This record gives sequence, C-alpha cells and structure tokens, in this order.
Amino acid sequence: MSPVSEQLDQAATWRRAEASVPRGVSSGHRVGWQQVFVRTQGAYIWDQEDRQYVDYLNAWGPIVLGHSDRRVNEAVFAAVSTCDLTGVGPQAGEIELAETICEVLPSADKVAFCTSGTDATMHAVHVARAATGRLKVLKFHGSYHGWSDHVAVGSSRKDLTATSSLNTPNGGGLHPAVVDDVVVVEWNDDAGLRAAFEAHGHELAVAFTEGYVHSFGCVPAAPGFLELLRELCTGHGVVLVFDEIKTGFRAALGGYQSICGVTPDMTAFGKAVANGYSLAGLAGSDAVMGHLGAYSKSEATIDGTFNASPYALAAANKTLAIMQSEDVFGVLYARGEQMRTGIQAAIDETGAPATVAGLGSEWCVYFRPELPTNFRQAMESDAEMYARYHTSLLSQGVLEPAFPTGDRRLNAATTESDVASTIECVRVALRAAIG
Ligand code: PLP
Repeated sequence: MSPVSEQLDQAATWRRAEASVPRGVSSGHRVGWQQVFVRTQGAYIWDQEDRQYVDYLNAWGPIVLGHSDRRVNEAVFAAVSTCDLTGVGPQAGEIELAETICEVLPSADKVAFCTSGTDATMHAVHVARAATGRLKVLKFHGSYHGWSDHVAVGSSRKDLTATSSLNTPNGGGLHPAVVDDVVVVEWNDDAGLRAAFEAHGHELAVAFTEGYVHSFGCVPAAPGFLELLRELCTGHGVVLVFDEIKTGFRAALGGYQSICGVTPDMTAFGKAVANGYSLAGLAGSDAVMGHLGAYSKSEATIDGTFNASPYALAAANKTLAIMQSEDVFGVLYARGEQMRTGIQAAIDETGAPATVAGLGSEWCVYFRPELPTNFRQAMESDAEMYARYHTSLLSQGVLEPAFPTGDRRLNAATTESDVASTIECVRVALRAAIG
C-alpha cells in the first residue's frame, strides 16, 4: 500500500482509514471532518490537498509553543539517542521534570507521571480512595475528565435535555452501577454544592473540578465558588483534585491554581506540558501522594510500561525550560486578548446574536445572547448558526473545533498578523452564521 502522504484524494483516505480503523479514527472528536492533515509547522497545519490553515484546535491543547517545534524535537532526539526507556528506576529526565513541576505548581510536593489525562484522573480517584478510605466521587455537570468509569459520568451531550438527570454515563460500555458512586453538581451552583456535601460529604473520597471550565467552552467559576469547594472539601476531609489537563502549562506555568489562588490537594495535568508528546501526570501534597506507589491492599498503585518515557520527559523538560526563559505566556495572553477583542468588535458590527469569552490563549464563541454559567446554558448555543460559522471559517483557512461549545486556542507561534487576518475571517463567518 502506498503511504497516505502520497495520496491527494482526502475522501479516498477516509475510506481507506475506515476499512482498517473503526470509524477511521482512534479518538472520538476526530470524526466528522472531510480533511486529512498531513503537515504541521508553527501556527499552521496543511491538509492532504496542500491547503494551509491557521490552527486554533492545536490538537485540543497540547501544542502550546507551536507545531513541530525544532527545539523540543531536538531535545527528544538527543534523549532517545542517549538512553531510551529502561524499565528500571527513575527514567532519564524524570527527576528534573518532577523538580521543576514541584517548583512551579502550588499544589505539588510530589509528582508521578503517566501517559494521558485519562490515566491521571483514574489514578487520582485511586489515590483519593486510598487516602480517605471512602468510595464516592463528586464532579461538575458537563466537565470531562477522561474515560475511566468513575469520572466518565455527567458530561454527555447526547441525551442532555432541560430536565435530564445530571449523572448519566457518558457512553456505552461504562459500568452502569458506577453512577451510584458519582455525585454530579451543576457548575456554579453554590446551593447545589452545599447540599451535595451535606448529603454525601462523609462518603466522598474526592471532588474533581476544572478550575476554569473548558469542557464546554470557556466558563469561569463564579466569584467564591472555588473557595467554597475548597472549604467544603477541607471541612469534610475530601481530597480536592484540580483537573488542569487543559489549563496546566497553558493558562500559566503554575496552572490555573496559580491564578485563582485556590490550592487543591492533587492536580491532574497533561496536554501542553510536553508540547504534543504524550505525557501526563498527577501532582499533590506529600500527605496525599504518599498513598501512591506501594503494592498493598490499602494503598494505590501507579504502574505503566510507558509512564515517564524519556522521549516525553525530554519534550516536557524542554517545553518548560522555554516557558521559564522566554515570554511565552506574554505572547499567548496578548494574542488571545487581541483575538477576543477583535471577535467582540466583529459581533458588535455584524449584530450576530453571539458572545465571546476566554482566558489567555483560549476563547469560545457562543451563539446565544449571554455568556453561559453552566453546561446546560452553554449547550443552548445555536448549533445551526455555529455550523455555518464553522464551515465559513474552514473555507477561509481557519481551523477550529467542529462543535459549538468547543474551546479554541492559539499557540505561541501565532503572529499578530495571523490573528488580525483571522478576525477578518470571523467577520465573514458571523455574517454567514446569521444567514
Ligand atoms: N480532563 C480534561 C479537562 C480534558 O480536557 C481531557 C481531554 O480533553 C481529559 C481530562 C482527558 O485527557 P486525555 O485526552 O489526555 O486522556
């Protein structure tokens, strides 16, 4: 068979993929596109027909410095040419990376590495159970924390109605009995949160939250909400986990916790930490992380052939070194602000019934008159308008998520002029959206 890169017909590539991979992809959100992307560099991505797009998907978060960053790639190559995975003791680069993360992340006294966000949140549940001797998990409606059974509850978009139950499993194949152990609370609902702790505080092992929600776009916590969560967790002896898989090493070097000033007991991170290489991890206080790693009936275990792979550690060590020596966050914030301000001006000018929100390098355009404060409100964003908006942007060479509440983000290789051109495209797309 010829390599895919030599094919030019994208529809033929999709058909070929579907013949050997279920639905043609190995990750759910990759379906529904006509494009097949074959080349990346800096802020750009090229499809198989050699069309260039400015990339605001950035693989859902990992690409933060820019695509195919030469400095990161050289560090990876040097690492794998020197000492690759050994399976014995600390791996090359592991100690250095753990030390840096403990330095920059407020909640980190200790760090353990794994390969995906799903791994990290699964281990967080295990550690919290070992630490508390309790079973139940609290999470917020709409927040996605990966696919292990106990967190894959309460964020499905498929069956959502104004009155649907908060805690339904996110998909088939998940254990239905698990939902009994998951308490799902509406995001930003103070009274609901207090009531959940009142009823279940004594049986909760862990509470998961995104400090700043990206699971349904860009929805911050209302003032005082994270502080209330922290207070309730402390009061009831519940382990508080911040899922910083999207915000870690993107909202700030010290994660969103360094912005909001609320410190969790554990943090799950991944995505941007290694600029596209597969690394994730769990960081936390000595007390909580002390329950990880022993083979026993009462302590939690972390075990994984590819955990702390030297190639990924090298990528992360280099990514964080660049973040510490260059003004990466200054660039991400300046471009993000330029984007949001420009989009707002375009919304005002076109009269589109839309709103824009975001933080740092991230933003979301909702086709509803007011910014949402929770999942159901976010999901009221007009899907048909968004589809026209998205199709128009794509035809103008702007790559964004294919569904209305997907957060979008730029990387640090994106220039002021890229953003200015994108805002012109947004103006056209908003007119297309209104129809
Ligand atoms: N948590 C959040 C907030 C995420 O956005 C994601 C992925 O998008 C995950 C967890 C799961 O991470 P991964 O896809 O690396 O398993």
